[in-house]
Amino acid sequence: MNELMMLVRRILSLLATLGIAIATPACGQPSPEQQRNAMVDDIARMARALSRNTGKDELDERVLRAMAKVPRHEFVPEAFRARAYENRPLPIGEGQTISQPFIVALMTDLAGVDADSVVLEIGTGSGYQAAILAELAARVHTIEIVEPLGRRAAETLERLGYDNVFVRIGDGYRGWPEAAPFDAIVVTAAPDEVPRPLLEQLAPRGRLVIPVGAPGAVQSLRLIEKDAEGRLTERDVLPVAFVPFTRETR
Ligand code: SAH
Repeated sequence: MNELMMLVRRILSLLATLGIAIATPACGQPSPEQQRNAMVDDIARMARALSRNTGKDELDERVLRAMAKVPRHEFVPEAFRARAYENRPLPIGEGQTISQPFIVALMTDLAGVDADSVVLEIGTGSGYQAAILAELAARVHTIEIVEPLGRRAAETLERLGYDNVFVRIGDGYRGWPEAAPFDAIVVTAAPDEVPRPLLEQLAPRGRLVIPVGAPGAVQSLRLIEKDAEGRLTERDVLPVAFVPFTRETR
C-alpha cells in the first residue's frame, strides 16, 4: 500500500473515532425508512381529509405499520425508484400501475384482515399490495392476468422473503376455488360488475373490497360484507380510478 493510501486511511479512521460521518453518495437524501415514515404521515393526513367519505378518521394502526415497513421501492421499476415513496400511483410496465399508497392502505384497512386471515387478491401487478396484506394475514393468494408482471412480482416477493404469498397467472374472475373460502378478497382492477365467483368464495363474516364501474370512468370503491348467515351488504366508500379488469391472459 502506498503512503498516500495509508494517510487517507488514518485520517478516515480518525474522523470515524471522532464520530464524523464521511460523505456518501446518498448524503443529504432521507433514507428509505424516513421516506416511508413521511409517506405514512401523508396517508394519515389523507385519511383524515377523506373521513366524510370513508367513515373513518384513522386507518388501523397495524396497516400503517405495514406501510412503514414494506420497501415499496423494491416493487417499482428502476426508473421510478426515487419517487417510490410519493403518495401516488406509478407505472410498472405493460400499461399497468402500482396503486397510490393511500388507496393500498385504505383497501387493506377495509379488508379487515388479522393474523388468521386467508386472503385473495385479484391483480397482483407489482406485488406490493400482496406484501402489505402478507404482513397482516396468515396467507395471501394473488392472481395476475399479465404473465410478465405475475412472474416479476413472484420473484420480488420471494426475494424479500414473503413465503406466505402464492402467485398464480390467470384470469382472476374465477377466483381460486381450491384455496377458498377467503376471509378477505381485495380486487385491484375495476370490473363493470362484481364477479359472482368471488362472492361465492367469500367466507361467512368475510369482506370483499373492489372498485366497480365502467372502464375509463371514475369507479366506486365498494365494500361488500358477508354475515355469518351468508347475507351480503354493501357500501360505496370512495370514487377511485383503477385500471380495467380484463378477461384474457396476455
Ligand atoms: N395490486 C397491484 C396493482 C396492480 S394494477 C400492486 O400492488 O401493484 C391491477 C392489475 O390487475 C394489473 O396488473 C392487471 O394486469 C391486473 N388484472 C386486470 N384484470 C385482471 C384479471 N381478470 N385477473 C387478474 N389480474 C387482472
